[in-house]
Amino acid sequence: MEYISTRNIAATACSSAQAIIAGIAPDGGLYVPKNFPAYDLAKLKDNDYLGLAKDIFGLYLSDFNKQQIEAIVKAAYPESAFGRDIAPVQKVGDFYLLELFHGPTAAFKDMALQALPHLLTTSMALTGQKDDVVILVATSGDTGKAALEGFCDVEHCSIIVFYPADGVSEIQEKQMLTTGGQNTTIIAVNGNFDDCQTAVKQVFADQQLATKMANHNLSFSSANSINFGRLLPQIVYYFDAYRQLCLKHNLPLGEAIDVAVPTGNFGNILAAFYAKQMGLPIANLICASNSNDVLADAISTGLYNRKRPFYQTGSPSMDILVSSNFERFLYEIYGRDAAATANAMQKLNSEGQFTIEAETCQKMQALIYGGKADDQQAAVTIKDIFAKHNYVLDPHTAVGYYVAQQYQAETAAKRPLVLASTASPYKFANTVLKALDIDCQGLNGSEQLQLLAQKTVTNIPNSLAKINNLPQRVKTIINKEEIAATVAKVLELK
Ligand SMILES: *Cc1c(COP(=O)(O)O)cnc(C)c1O
Repeated sequence: MEYISTRNIAATACSSAQAIIAGIAPDGGLYVPKNFPAYDLAKLKDNDYLGLAKDIFGLYLSDFNKQQIEAIVKAAYPESAFGRDIAPVQKVGDFYLLELFHGPTAAFKDMALQALPHLLTTSMALTGQKDDVVILVATSGDTGKAALEGFCDVEHCSIIVFYPADGVSEIQEKQMLTTGGQNTTIIAVNGNFDDCQTAVKQVFADQQLATKMANHNLSFSSANSINFGRLLPQIVYYFDAYRQLCLKHNLPLGEAIDVAVPTGNFGNILAAFYAKQMGLPIANLICASNSNDVLADAISTGLYNRKRPFYQTGSPSMDILVSSNFERFLYEIYGRDAAATANAMQKLNSEGQFTIEAETCQKMQALIYGGKADDQQAAVTIKDIFAKHNYVLDPHTAVGYYVAQQYQAETAAKRPLVLASTASPYKFANTVLKALDIDCQGLNGSEQLQLLAQKTVTNIPNSLAKINNLPQRVKTIINKEEIAATVAKVLELK
């Protein structure tokens, strides 16, 4: 399988190993597979998660051999880290919740970020890359910790994480600042997630810095979901969810489902779209936004306009106005027209907005439904679902749940609906407690965890239970203008 850039009209291709190492294409576009390989649904029934991961990785990573793929999958998803089912499906109310938070950091980012370091180091071996890799991450909270966990003490890799100083939950920050490892750096930035992401993108494009890096035998890569190595592992769990529906919930093989995803950078929902392109019978994708509703609006009107207020919400991992992976989706709905994609992205950059033409917009709307839920609506959903079904939703999943209900009410769709459940509610204990009308004033993070466990009679995930006993680093705060200089300092570049 070859990989091409969403913006490269000449379509110079590279291998999967090269695409994973580079993260972003030289023309600023994103790497996409040259075509979508088909996956035979008949193979689902005798498979399990690891088997599916091997099959699907194999289809996309044709430059990796079988042993390499087996080793990556085995190292990424040990039962000790994810439990036996890895990503179990639970019926809650009308929906099938695909629980993606059983990994080491209690958010769905683990599904990809436990695999990415292995994909990357194998890619380096395959291409004979001699440089050590420096992973730069901009995070709205969950990616940072998941990437730190994944890359912690991985040989020939180091990782620097930037997060918005006031834009993550107390527990998210604590998770990051209690990371071990000799090769990990964590820095808070005055600004929001988009400021962090934009600054990190500029560092990637900084030629002067690149030259210095090369002189020190270092090169940058990305663990953000612009990296194809992040997307690939996410395709797997949509197939696995479908397998579980067939096996445990009497879904006839081949029957269509809908998939709803609480969305920020559009990586998770894009993976569902890729699964559909490979033959998974998904009828509609439901893209759920919080009050940062740029995607909901873009899908319903065709106008993507990032010039709008930025809100800090109770679902911080979705507080995003420039949704990077939407570019990959756009590329597909434009019929893989790189010039049209590049043009739209250039407009977004220079004017802050672009319009999807009527015909393409209709094509998009036939594939995807966009909706939104504000903090209040998410809170009511958390309370309602707990009261009715004794199940505790995290605030992101609650946004998804609300929008999925809205979608079914508006369209009268009755297909089985899989909702990606993206985090443990314990990661956002404060927001969840408030939604449940449980008084938690004056309690610190770990007291909130205890209270949530006690009141809902559920268990604190192990990884969160232990963070209080871990040594915590001092918080370093910089301004966004200082990101490039900080990178140079951390890497001791001269
Ligand atoms: C990252 C994240 C999202 C958004 O996922 P994208 O792939 O960025 O759209 C939703 N919920 C949680 C809990 C997350 O960590």
